[in-house]
Amino acid sequence: MVFFDDELYFTKMPNTLQIEVSPPLCATQERQIVGELLYEELKQIQTDIEPSSSVIKADLLFSKVGKFVVLTGRISADLVLQCAACLEPVDFPANIDVKLAIINDEEMVSLIPDEYEPYLYEGDRLLVSDVVEAEVTLMLPTIPRHDVCPIDLPKSSTSKGFILEEEKKNPFEVLEKLKLN
Ligand SMILES: [Zn+2]
Repeated sequence: MVFFDDELYFTKMPNTLQIEVSPPLCATQERQIVGELLYEELKQIQTDIEPSSSVIKADLLFSKVGKFVVLTGRISADLVLQCAACLEPVDFPANIDVKLAIINDEEMVSLIPDEYEPYLYEGDRLLVSDVVEAEVTLMLPTIPRHDVCPIDLPKSSTSKGFILEEEKKNPFEVLEKLKLN
């Protein structure tokens, strides 16, 4: 017979990152937050990524550097974006090292420890998924594109390339003729 106690059960479930926390309290407790964010849960970047993207995983730790609350750890996801040229899906693996100073006072921005980026929140509580989405937003390409598109691009751009190729060839043909003469 198998017994589950609540704590064991919950550690085996993927935790949501849509949790509100008090950053100073978490820093004092050195709280670790491990969880996942589903596509359906996204609020900021849902329109930027394809539904076939993997869940976004985060393993984050609150702690203190001096009097500052800092959040460190890792965010990872196998995102799928839409190529701006051919409109087909393009894989975009995301692995982000998180190193944030969590502040709720804009005047503190200039005082945060070196190597940390500021993250400003309002009020007393911080929604962890907001931080995760903001970090992913920062590293998304402005214009997602394949290195080499898997399908033929529309004819207009193909013929343009063809013309350029022809123009390149011509000077050599002229040289060849000069040599022959
Ligand atoms: Zn493409």
